[in-house]
Amino acid sequence: MRAPRTRSIRVRSIRGAALACTVLSAAGLLSACGLGGADKPTIAHKHSLTIGVKADQPSLGVKTKNGTYEGFDVDVATYIAARLGVPKDRITWRTTNSSVREKALADGTVDMIVATYSITAKRKRTVTFAGPYYVAHQDTLVAPGDAAVRDVRDLKGRKICAVTGSNSWRRVIEERKTAAVPVQAPTYGACMDDLAAGRLDAVSTDDLILAGFAAGHPGKIINAPFTDEKYGVGLKKGDLEGCEQVNRAITAMYQDGTAARLLRKWFGESGLKLTTSVPQFEGCS
Ligand code: GLU
Repeated sequence: MRAPRTRSIRVRSIRGAALACTVLSAAGLLSACGLGGADKPTIAHKHSLTIGVKADQPSLGVKTKNGTYEGFDVDVATYIAARLGVPKDRITWRTTNSSVREKALADGTVDMIVATYSITAKRKRTVTFAGPYYVAHQDTLVAPGDAAVRDVRDLKGRKICAVTGSNSWRRVIEERKTAAVPVQAPTYGACMDDLAAGRLDAVSTDDLILAGFAAGHPGKIINAPFTDEKYGVGLKKGDLEGCEQVNRAITAMYQDGTAARLLRKWFGESGLKLTTSVPQFEGCS
């Protein structure tokens, strides 16, 4: 009985802080909001949030014709924001491609990023990551008739998509030391077009991304996963208070069944083995 009561008090106090910000903002004292104890910028207690998501990754982050965004990452971000006291109507969504994620957090273009954003040692130097909220695995998509690629090593000499700012092609070439030929593209949507047009031999990236595209694009996932892609919630470097709050929200999202529901909603038909237990957190730093 005690645990739920503690949680509801915490949730209420977060909402209370957001309400206080609303009042202060109406009184022209907005600078008091969004600042932590030692004047550190934090997403904790913010009245509204600008959230970076992808715009062309089906089932994860898609900008629809009427300008709204949808997908697993969008739903996860909406849930987290609500737990932080920010309802849907006070979220501004912003398309944030792989190439601009670190910069968008650093310069305040976005407050938070939920965009198939893997936690890596290099990115941790400039970004504070909450989560992971899910762990994906890198796999490879080839043209439907291609039987020669069965493993990442078979990408040697093959043209693979290299999305600017994304880590996936580096995993193949730098980590797996496989001499594939990187072909630059701005987004994974563009990679899929390039594969369909024969400009590429393969798209190697997170299984969730490939599964999302599989429904509407020709191609075959080789089913040879070779990494753990820990999807983090990107925050401005140093926002430890916000990070702890997001981690509590992610825990709640798994405990109350929302994570399992959202995974089924977006990937239930994909054939992927979905993990519905809360991932091991990295720790805020
Ligand atoms: N999760 C990988 C990464 O963060 C690939 C997907 C992406 O770039 O959004 O690099």
